[in-house]
Formats: sequence, structure tokens, C-alpha cells
Amino acid sequence: MHNFAYIRPTTLRDAAAQLGKEHGKVMLLAGGTDLLGEMKDDLRVPEKLVAIRQLRELQGIRPGRGGLRIGAATLLSDIAESAPVREQAPLLAMAAETVGTPQIRNMATIGGNLCQRPRCWYYRNNYPCFKHGGSVCYSVTGENEYHAILEGGPSYIVHPSDTAPALVALGATVRISTGGRERGVPIEKFFVGPRQDPARENILQPNEILTEIEVPSAPAGSKAVYVKEMVREVWDFALCSVAAMVTTSGGIVGDARIVLGGVAPFPYRALKAEAVLKGRRLDEAAAAAAGAAAVDGARPLSKNAYKVPLTQAVVTRALLSLA
Ligand SMILES: Cc1cc2nc3c(=O)[nH]c(=O)nc-3n(C[C@H](O)[C@H](O)[C@H](O)COP(=O)(O)OP(=O)(O)OC[C@H]3O[C@@H](n4cnc5c(N)ncnc54)[C@H](O)[C@@H]3O)c2cc1C
Ligand code: SF4
Repeated sequence: MHNFAYIRPTTLRDAAAQLGKEHGKVMLLAGGTDLLGEMKDDLRVPEKLVAIRQLRELQGIRPGRGGLRIGAATLLSDIAESAPVREQAPLLAMAAETVGTPQIRNMATIGGNLCQRPRCWYYRNNYPCFKHGGSVCYSVTGENEYHAILEGGPSYIVHPSDTAPALVALGATVRISTGGRERGVPIEKFFVGPRQDPARENILQPNEILTEIEVPSAPAGSKAVYVKEMVREVWDFALCSVAAMVTTSGGIVGDARIVLGGVAPFPYRALKAEAVLKGRRLDEAAAAAAGAAAVDGARPLSKNAYKVPLTQAVVTRALLSLA
């Protein structure tokens, strides 16, 4: 690993004061489960690392009026086990529980989980593709078994986070700070697709820190589930996943939020599937119709067509489990 300065600030303001204006020179270090691996492989070569996991302002799960406020440096294991999260936003607890191994969840923070970089083999092996500032995507004609079937191009990564689809389904807001100025952004607008900028996955500027996630309580009458399909049974990234939340009244679906992971460069809101469900009884026919609508418009690459029926089946299965 190359040489770099290691800074351990005691306040958010001090941490922010260390940040610069250029991407990649000064980097935030949370649990390090993604970033340190990337530095070891020379994928990222920052001059300065600013540790933020210890910052009090970024810690904890605070129940508030209408929902929860979760500090960005809160560990995934704490989120998965938190009684308030299990009670008010069980979908998030379910998703956090599926991330990696217990060891990873005991190190990894929710902020880092949302900001982690893609797992594409070419990116991880430092090929000069779009993600490294180049102008080619090697996966199009190469290995693309695990890549995007929806919203791909010019990069075909899939967003690797399990908590992201759950937070989009829950309608969360992320809070972003420069140390002085703060802004709140609906999490759906936090992620950047490759057509907007193929080198990046989120809107964070080099001088910004993700500080908190506001998670509204799940609506009354709602049921939710997170289903994740992996190559191996456990400890793996999603081949495809679905975060589904359905609100019914008198047996009829009033609202549905269906968000897919592992199939698009960002958590993909399956709006057509949501529309299919609204005003209907959630039965086998409705779940199957929503499953089909979820993959409408899918454009698989040469080796990942299997993801289309897989995703359709996972959405159908998830919805049936809520019926
Ligand atoms: C073996 C293994 C299996 C895994 N399996 C899964 C899985 O199944 N599902 C899944 O979702 N993930 C999985 N992961 C990824 C893992 O969840 C992430 O590495 C982890 O969540 C990153 O969190 P961290 O706190 O360690 O972040 P770090 O590694 O410290 O940082 C990651 C990135 O986020 C940035 N960052 C961190 N915090 C902030 C902040 N507050 N504001 C702005 N930027 C920030 C850092 O600068 C860096 O760019 C796996 C990882 C490993 C190693
Ligand atoms: S999918 Fe994205 S990360 Fe992978 S080779 Fe193509 S541009 Fe690079």
C-alpha cells in the first residue's frame, strides 16, 4: 500500500475541514471493509485518510417523531439488532442482516454500505474502464454474468448495497454536510446512474460527508420483506434482491413500493410493478403480474439473461410472502 497521512478528527467540523475540492485525494474512512481493500489493490491512492467512525455526531439510532434517525457511522450489526429499527422499519433490519458475514457487519457502517464501490471484476482489477476515468466498458464483450439487466450503459455495474433498496422502499432521506452547510436529499436522488456520470455512484461532492439517514416509520397497515438471491446460500452479494413494502386496507393494496437490488447500477424502483398492484387484492395472479412488470424493459447482456426470470420469480415470491 502507498504512503498516506492518517487523520483522526474529534468532531464532524474538524473532519470536514480536512476535505478538499478534488475527488480521490482526501478520503473518508469508516469501517474500512471496502476502502482499505481498494487501497491495498491500488484502486484508490488517497494522500490523506480521514477516519470518521469514532465521531459522536455520526453515531447511534435515535427514535424521533414519525421515524428514526440513524447516524452514518452506525454499524450494520447494530442496525440489524436494534429494537426500534425492527419495530419501526423492519425492512431495513432484514436487509442489514443479509450483508456479508457477522464479521463484516461488526465493522461496516451504514454510510459506508451506501457509498461502497462496485464489485465488477474489471473495476476491481484496475482495468481502465469508465469507472477508472476511461472510455470503455470491458464487461459488454467480456464477463457480464453478474451485471445489470436494467438501466445499464455505458457502465453495467450493479449497485452492491443491500441496505440501499430497503431505504429507497422506505422513502428515507440522507443528510449531507460540509461541516457548515447541511442538506437533506431523498435517498432515491442520492444515487447517480452511469448515464449521468459513469465514473460515480452517488451525488457526494469531495467536501461532503453523509451524516445521517432519516427513516420514516413504516405506514400503518403495511407489510414488508427483503428477499435476496445469491450464488451461495449465505455471505455473498445479491444476484438480485427485492425490498417490497405493501400497504393494504380491507384486503386491497393502497400503496406498494418495490425496489430491486443487484440488477441495475442503482437501487431500481419497479414502478410498473407497483402500479400493477395498486387497487388490487394481493393474490397469486397479482403477484405474478407484478413480477412480470418488474422486469419489463430488461436488456440483458450476453451472459446474464438468467437474471430476468430469476428477478421475476423473486419479486413474485416476495409479494406472495406478504399476501
Ligand atoms: C467479504 C465481503 C462480503 C460483503 N458482502 C456484502 C453484501 O452481501 N451486501 C452488501 O451490501 N455489502 C457487502 N459487502 C460490502 C460491505 O457491506 C461494505 O464494504 C461496507 O458496508 C462498507 O462500509 P464501511 O463502513 O466499511 O466503509 P468504508 O470501507 O470505510 O468506506 C467505503 C466508501 O464509503 C465512503 N464513506 C464511508 N462513510 C462515509 C460517509 N459517512 N460519508 C461519505 N462517504 C463515506 C468511503 O470514503 C469509501 O469510499 C461485503 C464486503 C466484503 C468484504
Ligand atoms: S461494468 Fe462498469 S466497472 Fe465494469 S468494466 Fe464496465 S465500466 Fe468498468
